[in-house]
Amino acid sequence: MFKKILVANRGEIALRIQRACRELGIQAVMVYSEADKDAKYVRLADEAVCIGPPPSGQSYLNMPAIISAAEVTDAEAIHPGYGFLSENADFAERVEKSGFQFIGPTPESIRIMGDKVSAKQAMIKAGVPCVPGSEGELPDDPAAIRRIAKAIGYPVIIKAAGGGGGRGMRVVHTEAALVGAVQMTKAEAAAAFNNPAVYMEKYLQNPRHIEIQVLADKHRNAVYLGERDCSMQRRHQKVIEEAPAPGIPRRLIERIGERCVTACKKIGYRGAGTFEFLYENGEFYFIEMNTRVQVEHPVTEWITGIDIVRTQIMVAAGEKLPFTQRQIQLKGHAIECRVNAEDPFKFTPSPGRITTWHAPGGPGVRVDSHVYNNYFVPPNYDSMIGKIVVYGDTREQAIARMRTALAETVIEGISSNIALHRELMVDAKFIEGGTNIHYLEKWLSEHKR
Ligand code: ADP
Repeated sequence: MFKKILVANRGEIALRIQRACRELGIQAVMVYSEADKDAKYVRLADEAVCIGPPPSGQSYLNMPAIISAAEVTDAEAIHPGYGFLSENADFAERVEKSGFQFIGPTPESIRIMGDKVSAKQAMIKAGVPCVPGSEGELPDDPAAIRRIAKAIGYPVIIKAAGGGGGRGMRVVHTEAALVGAVQMTKAEAAAAFNNPAVYMEKYLQNPRHIEIQVLADKHRNAVYLGERDCSMQRRHQKVIEEAPAPGIPRRLIERIGERCVTACKKIGYRGAGTFEFLYENGEFYFIEMNTRVQVEHPVTEWITGIDIVRTQIMVAAGEKLPFTQRQIQLKGHAIECRVNAEDPFKFTPSPGRITTWHAPGGPGVRVDSHVYNNYFVPPNYDSMIGKIVVYGDTREQAIARMRTALAETVIEGISSNIALHRELMVDAKFIEGGTNIHYLEKWLSEHKR
């Protein structure tokens, strides 16, 4: 097992990884930007290294600074968390070339899965069902583009091969709007992702977002840890996640889960990963794979009793998965609300000093957050400041616990989206379960204020 790991991230996930290291008796080196120098998890670290000024381009995305921090502290492995460099194949490669273990899949796996076009091609080959669409990147010829759209059938969605974070997508309903939309998405993709390649998919009208968590070791063992329902989204970004997904027959989950495991074995996948699907009329359609730990991993940890971050570290160190598929049993229900520093209904970011932070507690409540009284939320990063996760024997109990947890939560000094979550937890359709990916946007437009 490693003696020392460098955590190349910030905020709640940096603290989450630090906790896993502590539990395993591993020293954690935290890197931080000048904006995070006073953060408690940085102060609590075994060692901490400043890697640059607040803008992430000069700090959390600064590969040479992170690798030299690992060198000076004598760390053996680097955990990238999520976001930042976590899905950057060049970074993974440089980490390994510098003699450190990257806690994640091989650079090759990241490269294939990081490009959504090659990811879909790999999945089709591995027998995973995909959203019907173009056979790879769209050509330049307008007539050819129109032919492809016609064959798929409108509406279609144009997506950037290198896209992420809900950006680089455009829905097209008519042939008249098609070519312009393709050109616009290409230009945006070139600017935002440094990759102008786009592809086309059938735009599914009422799907749910269902994803399968996998874990694989270096010995070709792989398992799936059930599913998560992440359909409550705004602007293609997740707001609430839960596990299991309400109302989906277990045999369908098992069938798709087994396909994911087979795909992992075929591509030599290792570490934690998530296969994301759209689910409509009883069918799953692969959209992309995330080759890292995800924000919403705690809901799966709760219903399986498996510590995903700990397992990531163990398999990176070369250990075999400590459980087989048959030993993985799902129990109860878990829900996660992402806590964002933003206006609850207008969504404008609200960085600044948190004068009062009172986190909820009690049976079945877990709060993953690096925040405390008097913490300053820097304006430089994502607005997520933590996650409230609850567990119940049933979904009903989990919702009741989430309501209590949200009622106990006090965040003063900045705006947060707690008020939005409080309203959603009493919404009849959410309580019923099984809402689709458009539900929250529709709800927001009907509850304008
Ligand atoms: P990102 O990498 O930016 O998260 P994804 O490919 O995972 O992009 O898609 C994010 C979200 O966009 C999905 O959860 C879904 O809400 C929507 N979406 C993507 N592809 C389609 C599609 N073919 N039809 C309908 N909605 C889609």
